[in-house]
Amino acid sequence: MTKPNPVPPRAVDVLVCGGGVAGTMAAVAAARQGATVMLVERYGFLGGNATGGAVAQFNSWQTEAGRRVVAGLADEVVQRLRTYEAAGEHQVFVMSTGHRMDRVEYAPEVLKLVLDDMVTGAGVQPMLHASVCDVVCEDGRIRAVRMLTRSGVVNVHPRVVIDTSGDIDVLHRAGARFLSLDEGDALQPATMMFRFGPIDFERFDAITTAEMKVLATEGYASGDLARAALHASRDPYSTDGWFNISRLGIDATDAQALSQGEIEGRRQAWKAAAYLRRAVPGCEGGRLRAFATQVGIRETRRVEGEHVLTAQELTQPVAFDDAIACGAYPIDIHPASGGELLYASMGDDHAYQIPYRSLIPKGVTNALVAGRGISATHAALAAIRVMTISMAVGQAAGTAAALACEGEGALDVRGVDAARLREVLKAGGALVDA
Ligand SMILES: Cc1cc2nc3c(=O)[nH]c(=O)nc-3n(C[C@H](O)[C@H](O)[C@H](O)COP(=O)(O)OP(=O)(O)OC[C@H]3O[C@@H](n4cnc5c(N)ncnc54)[C@H](O)[C@@H]3O)c2cc1C
Repeated sequence: MTKPNPVPPRAVDVLVCGGGVAGTMAAVAAARQGATVMLVERYGFLGGNATGGAVAQFNSWQTEAGRRVVAGLADEVVQRLRTYEAAGEHQVFVMSTGHRMDRVEYAPEVLKLVLDDMVTGAGVQPMLHASVCDVVCEDGRIRAVRMLTRSGVVNVHPRVVIDTSGDIDVLHRAGARFLSLDEGDALQPATMMFRFGPIDFERFDAITTAEMKVLATEGYASGDLARAALHASRDPYSTDGWFNISRLGIDATDAQALSQGEIEGRRQAWKAAAYLRRAVPGCEGGRLRAFATQVGIRETRRVEGEHVLTAQELTQPVAFDDAIACGAYPIDIHPASGGELLYASMGDDHAYQIPYRSLIPKGVTNALVAGRGISATHAALAAIRVMTISMAVGQAAGTAAALACEGEGALDVRGVDAARLREVLKAGGALVDA
């Protein structure tokens, strides 16, 4: 005999699936705009790659010339981190590729607290330890999302779904269409971030870009490093650094490949930490102190939307009437096999726009996508996937979903007036014109 479901079904205006930075910003934006919102996350904390993946630096707020292109809720995150003394100053630095980059380093553990504060403050209903496991979709409309929670299976009936699960699980289950890789391309690799310390940063920071390149190349040639880079961000609370060195050429939607990737990632990180101790000035007294909770995923599924954003539209750049976010991060492709980054700098004061239509999956009326699964080619995603831009796009998706819910009855997210959406976003501090 089957047991009755112990949890009654629920109805909400907006259901956000996946509590990474894109999903959390989407949920907060929708709730602040007056919608009832539930945010579903499979872990017990929010942040995705930004916390569980320990990425630890928000990159590219501005053009190389210093013009701001991302603000809004993303800015609020940094301000709130600073009240916990958990984010560094805005810094500009030169990468091993010679490209000028800006970033804010932060403590991933404290970001969990900041995202909690924002979500609870906005009145979002968080549903943690809950994994989306099924979707009921009829005639292109998502009627119900089923999730496995600690109280059993819960059915939620949303008016709009925002898929921010990174792997775009909800739309995958709903039968939406996805973009394939261009011929010759591979998915960007995953990376197991690790924490290493203590580091004598006076000596570590004194290593010149050229010297660092030699150390990285030697470590890669000897097989100690899976990637020819010694890229680190500093933990604001300690003399530790988070290192981004491992390389895992996996499809993270394949359960077996992901399992092997987690194991191989820890092995690569351990080897890299031994190399840091042995060869890198300032690291002699350090140890590997922690692995990220999960391997960090750069790319899996990209949905096919009403507009597919291309690299050419970023590099030209193209001005969109329905632009809802901007960015200036370069096209940054990590070769899955290791080696140096493929970096296409945008040039001095260059910025680009992201159109609302790239958030709308083809063939589904009541869903939006934000974060690393939006409708973009492999090369375009290589630029717009960073957390600053993911947060800006999340804010736009949440705002659009709430606006879509203002009307009565069956809705279509295509009916949201892009001009009004842009005005509401601007009023919320977002930058929408490149
Ligand atoms: C190693 C690495 C280094 C990077 N370096 C930088 C950097 O230096 N600076 C920068 O700005 N960006 C960087 N990025 C890019 C950036 O971190 C990501 O692109 C960004 O965090 C994506 O955010 P997201 O919210 O779209 O996805 P994710 O962070 O992947 O979040 C998805 C969320 O959905 C949840 N979820 C998934 N499936 C389900 C389900 N079925 N049910 C419920 N919940 C689910 C996950 O647990 C997760 O919390 C890096 C990425 C990686 C992997």
